[in-house]
Amino acid sequence: MIIVLEKDIVQEATLHIIGKLHELGLKNHAVHLNGQSIITVSNTPVDFDTRVLKLMNGIKDVFEVSEPYKLASKSWKKEPTTFEVNGTPVGTSVINLMAGPCAVESEEQIFTMAEFLHSRNVKFIRGGAYKPRSSPYSFQGLGKEGLKMLRAAADKYDLNVVTEVVDLSLLDEVSQYADVLQIGTRNMQNFYLLAEMGKQNKPVLLKRGMQARIQEWLMAAEYILSGGNEQVILCERGIRTFDTIGRNTLDVSAIPIVKELSHLPVFSDPSHGTGIRNRVAPMSLASVAAGADGLLIEVHHNPDKALSDGPQSILPAQLDELMSQLCPLANVVGRKLDYQLQNSYLRTES
Ligand code: PEP
Ligand code: MN
Repeated sequence: MIIVLEKDIVQEATLHIIGKLHELGLKNHAVHLNGQSIITVSNTPVDFDTRVLKLMNGIKDVFEVSEPYKLASKSWKKEPTTFEVNGTPVGTSVINLMAGPCAVESEEQIFTMAEFLHSRNVKFIRGGAYKPRSSPYSFQGLGKEGLKMLRAAADKYDLNVVTEVVDLSLLDEVSQYADVLQIGTRNMQNFYLLAEMGKQNKPVLLKRGMQARIQEWLMAAEYILSGGNEQVILCERGIRTFDTIGRNTLDVSAIPIVKELSHLPVFSDPSHGTGIRNRVAPMSLASVAAGADGLLIEVHHNPDKALSDGPQSILPAQLDELMSQLCPLANVVGRKLDYQLQNSYLRTES
């Protein structure tokens, strides 16, 4: 159950409501979300009569939400969650593209990429400065130097930075340079990190855990929302299945499922979802057809020399080709791509 309090509620009334919830044995959690004071109740009995609360002073509305994820659920909020990242809308009919290398490798690499993305009117550059690698012997990222390079390149070419927070101890540092904070698949159930994300006033791109059920993923989002941050983007990035033919199995079906269950924007990452360059374009198209609100794609000018995820990184020319296919497809499903809006290069092509 979700209880929405009146905007001008006095403290005495709030305390009275909390007291009543205690008396009824209802476990409650107060949240301040989008300028609204809300109380979530996680153990509402099925036969609970909400009128008991609806009549109380200071209560604006009561929503019955039976799902364990409350604030992430559509039972509570029907309309899609939208927000802007420095003027670029997310979660609207406009599909976002976040592109760039797996890792920031050098100044030259990231500036070349930023220049390319800017020339295509892409609004977000993605790249890891701290990399969560399966092997301790693999390239771990350039750390703070990488963040500085990424920020400088993004500033020069008017891009938003999407980069990963691999550990709680790095949150403050990464926040200084990022516009969107990425939580990787391995951290989807790092609950302390998620709770801190709830206190940030920046959007969080929450990847699906590679072994996570959809409900667990939505519960992870709930950690962020219940901390007071509603700017959450869910990102399907492939899960582990019995099949070992690809790196992961991109669960395209998760896109419409999550959109049915939640109001949060859902992105797709066909790069990690497939692990193979040639599969990125078809799965990008499939994701947009399935209703994705955005794509996260790894692009590299010299993928054979990439320090991480080269085999799944597409070349800039392949991104061009993909963009020209995505635009008409997006239009077919009643949407537009963010880079399409003012892109003269695409206009001359069509
Ligand atoms: C990445 O985006 O480069 C990354 C490491 O992603 P994931 O957490 O999905 O593996
Ligand atoms: Mn990667």
